[in-house]
Amino acid sequence: MTQQTQQTQQTHQTAPSVPGTESPGAPRALRPAEELQALVEDAARYLGGEGSGPEASAEEVIAWAARTFPGTLAVACSMADAVLPHLVARQVPGVDVLFLDTGYHFPETYGTRDAVAASLEVRVVDVLPALSLEEQDAAWGPRLYERDPTRCCALRKVEPLQRALTGYEAWVTGVRREDAATRTHTPLVTWDSSRNLVKINPLAAWTLDDLLAYAEKHRVVVNPLLADGYPSIGCQPCTRRVAPGDDPRSGRWAGFAKTECGIHL
Ligand code: SF4
Repeated sequence: MTQQTQQTQQTHQTAPSVPGTESPGAPRALRPAEELQALVEDAARYLGGEGSGPEASAEEVIAWAARTFPGTLAVACSMADAVLPHLVARQVPGVDVLFLDTGYHFPETYGTRDAVAASLEVRVVDVLPALSLEEQDAAWGPRLYERDPTRCCALRKVEPLQRALTGYEAWVTGVRREDAATRTHTPLVTWDSSRNLVKINPLAAWTLDDLLAYAEKHRVVVNPLLADGYPSIGCQPCTRRVAPGDDPRSGRWAGFAKTECGIHL
């Protein structure tokens, strides 16, 4: 049994202790699903959007999340940039930032993760798949991503995230409506029925220009691949450069109909 199999969640760096965030995934008193769903309905009225008035800003959404989920909030970050962890850490210092460490990332992505852990008041948690790369190759054959990327994503992203999120009431994502046609109607706050917790998308209305402007203004770390022809960054075997003006997601899983890894479906 490999070390990876034995320990499927690693804290990359320990941030200053904050009540309720001492140990990622540690047992917490989590509210029942019905209570959390009621909070989602309140959020729709309080934060606006979807026909109920102007939408709250990203900072206002995060302020609501910080008040509503003290100690039970996690941020998911692909390490394409550190804007979301930066925004959340300003209001929730020491927040857990979950990084799905598939084992297939670009070196630049691991470098961005290390820079986030070193530069922000967050606790980066490497969420590991149950199987090491070697174990997956033995079980499913080498280069599963070439033959069955949906299964590969399920093994290396979807299941690990599902497991990691069991210790939280809500997760914050960087999903933006302009990312893809499948994300056009992304709400600020929604009920994540597949995981039984609240999903918060404070950047839903942001454009890529908004994101880069924030990063520049606050000197936030950005993955260098973004400026090297990779507007959407996933695992190295499944991500290609994109020509200027092309669909940013067209470089992901090129040759397959697949456009989502599954964690936002
Ligand atoms: S993006 Fe590619 S390599 Fe990464 S988990 Fe999905 S199929 Fe596997």
